[in-house]
Amino acid sequence: MSEKYVYFFGKDRVEGNRKMKDILGGKGANLAEMAGIGLPVPPGFTISTEVCSLFAEAGDKIPPGVNEEIVVNLHRLERLTKQKFGDPKNPLLVSVRSGAKFSMPGMMDTVLNLGLNDKTIDGLAEKAGERRFALDCYRRLIHMFGDVGLEIPKERFETILRKKKKQVKVIQDFELSERALQELISDYRRLIKKETGKDFPQDVKKQLIMAISAVFKSWNNPRAITYRRLNYIPDDLGTAVNIQQMVFGNFGKASATGVGFTRNPASGEKELYGEYLFNAQGEDVVAGIRTPTPLSNLEKEMPSAYKELKTYTNRLEKHYKDVQDFEFTIQEKKLFMLQTRSGKRTGMAAIKIAVDLVEEGLVSKEEALMMVEPEALHQLLHPVFDAGEKAKHAVIATGLAASPGAAAGQTVFTADEAVEWKKQGKKVILVREETSPDDIHGMSASQGILTATGGMTSHAAVVGRQMGKPAVVGCGELRLDDEKKIFQAGRAKIKMGEWISIDGTSGEVFHGQIQTQPSEIIQVVRGEREPEDSRIYQYFTKFLFWADQVKRLGVRANTDTPEDARIALAFGAEGVGLARTEHMFFEKKRLPFIKEMILSETKEERRKALSKLLPFQKKDFYGLFREMRGHPVTIRTLDPPLHEFLPRREDLMVEIAVLKCDEEKKNQAKIKELEKLLERVKALSEFNPMLGHRGCRLGISYPEIIEMQATAIFEAVCQLRKEREKVYPEIMIPLVGTKEELANQKKIINRIAEEVMENHKVKIDYSIGTMIEIPRAAITADEIAQEAEFFSFGTNDLTQTIYGLSRDDGVGFLAYYLANGIWKNNPFETIDESGVGELMKWAVEKGRKARPNLKVGICGVHGGDPRSVYFCHKIGLDYVSCSAYQVPVARLAAAQITLKEKDAGRKH
Ligand code: ADP
Ligand code: MG
Ligand code: MG
Repeated sequence: MSEKYVYFFGKDRVEGNRKMKDILGGKGANLAEMAGIGLPVPPGFTISTEVCSLFAEAGDKIPPGVNEEIVVNLHRLERLTKQKFGDPKNPLLVSVRSGAKFSMPGMMDTVLNLGLNDKTIDGLAEKAGERRFALDCYRRLIHMFGDVGLEIPKERFETILRKKKKQVKVIQDFELSERALQELISDYRRLIKKETGKDFPQDVKKQLIMAISAVFKSWNNPRAITYRRLNYIPDDLGTAVNIQQMVFGNFGKASATGVGFTRNPASGEKELYGEYLFNAQGEDVVAGIRTPTPLSNLEKEMPSAYKELKTYTNRLEKHYKDVQDFEFTIQEKKLFMLQTRSGKRTGMAAIKIAVDLVEEGLVSKEEALMMVEPEALHQLLHPVFDAGEKAKHAVIATGLAASPGAAAGQTVFTADEAVEWKKQGKKVILVREETSPDDIHGMSASQGILTATGGMTSHAAVVGRQMGKPAVVGCGELRLDDEKKIFQAGRAKIKMGEWISIDGTSGEVFHGQIQTQPSEIIQVVRGEREPEDSRIYQYFTKFLFWADQVKRLGVRANTDTPEDARIALAFGAEGVGLARTEHMFFEKKRLPFIKEMILSETKEERRKALSKLLPFQKKDFYGLFREMRGHPVTIRTLDPPLHEFLPRREDLMVEIAVLKCDEEKKNQAKIKELEKLLERVKALSEFNPMLGHRGCRLGISYPEIIEMQATAIFEAVCQLRKEREKVYPEIMIPLVGTKEELANQKKIINRIAEEVMENHKVKIDYSIGTMIEIPRAAITADEIAQEAEFFSFGTNDLTQTIYGLSRDDGVGFLAYYLANGIWKNNPFETIDESGVGELMKWAVEKGRKARPNLKVGICGVHGGDPRSVYFCHKIGLDYVSCSAYQVPVARLAAAQITLKEKDAGRKH
């Protein structure tokens, strides 16, 4: 087999390109692409991602065939660079860089300056004319190699470095003298010897093999695994390894290293954006060791390099048709590009950039729609601080506004604390010197993130933006004392557990808990702000309007109240997919009538109680219909078991006991009443209420209930019709398992409709359908469809019943399953396609066979989950219904899946 595993990139020979991310990883594919279009990229080669699994299969060894290819390409690199790997006079130094198909910022490992040893260092020093620089490279190599290749915790090296700096009284790394560096190197090597029993490897080939192996192994380190889980990246993709000639940003004052974005990743503003450090090497900028200088300064300090950078990054943006996140190094005023990829951005920036790129003519509307993650739209709805409230709190510090949004929480200092406190139901802000990939779980559990060091491209900033969490970074005034669990900012001293508030849009940090207010978009949607006053709202609507032009699926909202319905409409809902009538019953004023109805002993009594509820229900439906202005409104008849409307058994027993204790006589009447209630509660109690007397089973055994609800619906319709309003009610029966159940309910509803129409002399258009949430209903969908005019998948109950798993009880072990990869996804969040989904498909097909114009939708929480929306589109549903706030997400997801299908069709 002549499989190719290694791909070269250099001036005259480029074997890869941007389309080869699968085998070259993102970094490798883009390095090849940049080299291919003539950008100044140090040459090198990429070992393909396929080797990652071969490596693991071979027992963590590089297979011999691959090894040969590595040697061939190393020679090629030597010829091109006119240097030799391991040569004491003219040594070639390389970086060994990980890089998977999807970028996993900082998750895996990289080693720089590889190829240095006690001999080659002389060659490097001689060539550079500077021994200090060579020593600086050497100490960095040993540090990184010790961490990545030998798995010695990097903190050990950092501690030694800190001590050394203190001892020789310098603050910055670059101030260390030759002698200090020499001593540092000895200390590092002693540490390695002590930890591993071996010396730092002098054989450069061995260095290379060990580093490559370490990168492959890093694919399976715990933080990389966690990251993949959080981002739904498959475990079997593997990482590639890039070996690339070193360029040196630590070569004195005319050298620098930096990172940037072609547009502002927080706001989307069109401006070159980023940071750099002079006299430093790669990791220094992102690690937040020194707070770096904004790129705008480079224009003054190194105008020619800046101009070049601007030209190249502009070109990259045009070439990739998207915002780029890039790395560069300047070695003695000469610019090198080291990485480019599409830049992660906030939801706000994503929308603005997508719209701007269309208007600049760089991408089509359809391409723009594919550029925004549906979930990212949520960020635009995040609350912000109320200006008035903000003014009442003292600003204790100001940092960089790294990820927008407002957050308030109790101060914690470690990721584990954050997770622990969150579990106890607390809101926390994670405060760190800087964050690292080990902190991911804690960041995920926090309301927001605050760090003392690091720039706009530091780990905290990048991850914050990606998670949509407010973050303030590089807050230089912070003094953290992790041991005392306290931080200081100016004169303020904040202890663990004290409330702070951070504004990721302005960079301000406040003492105390500031009330938030709705985001601009929500304000507009609620009619509290004019659309013209909100630029972001205009971008938002323009973008989603494009989505509507593309999508096939309808998007409806699950809403019970006119207020919610108004918001849903403003967010673009095309109807109500689920109005739960019971939510209306829970209201204080009505609960007594509900209780009366439940406690009734005879049908007559029950009727009487229900007749008191009728005006309320009619008003509810009237309000909802009116608000929806003729869009279809699906009303579900009463669903939950009746005991949910009554007090809990234990509470009643306690109450009775207490009353009996003090002055029984005076309380006789009350006690009697409660005892009757208790009897009823006992009678209604079930072992498995969710599988008990609920849904249509209620409407069948107590037809009076459904009669009342139907009357309320049709009376409301008639009233609106008289007011010349359009209404289209769809009545939906829950928990149907057999055709007969539905037929029973339908008969009652039709009868009531006739009566009401007759009374008012009005003709009403309506339809009756059912939820499909019991496996039996799905299996016998053809029979059910004989009665049902529409189906709506209740995927919450359907998932519970198919899995035999209670959504409310399963949480404990479900968390364990997910953490340990037993299940990839939570089936209550994303439709389980091969189980629940298969049955849905079956039901759609059988149902439509029996009734070709059967309308089919979904109203479970899955309706707002983009991947589930994709699935619903694929199996041919007519609409999805989700909460009002998820409507924009569903609209975008529905557009994306249409475009994806179109794209796939084109390829075939
Ligand atoms: P990550 O994926 O964590 O960003 P990288 O492989 O990009 O890791 O490398 C880490 C740092 O080292 C980056 O700042 C990068 O620019 C720098 N770097 C990598 N290779 C080289 C090289 N050949 N010369 C100079 N700097 C490099
Ligand atoms: Mg990088
Ligand atoms: Mg249900």
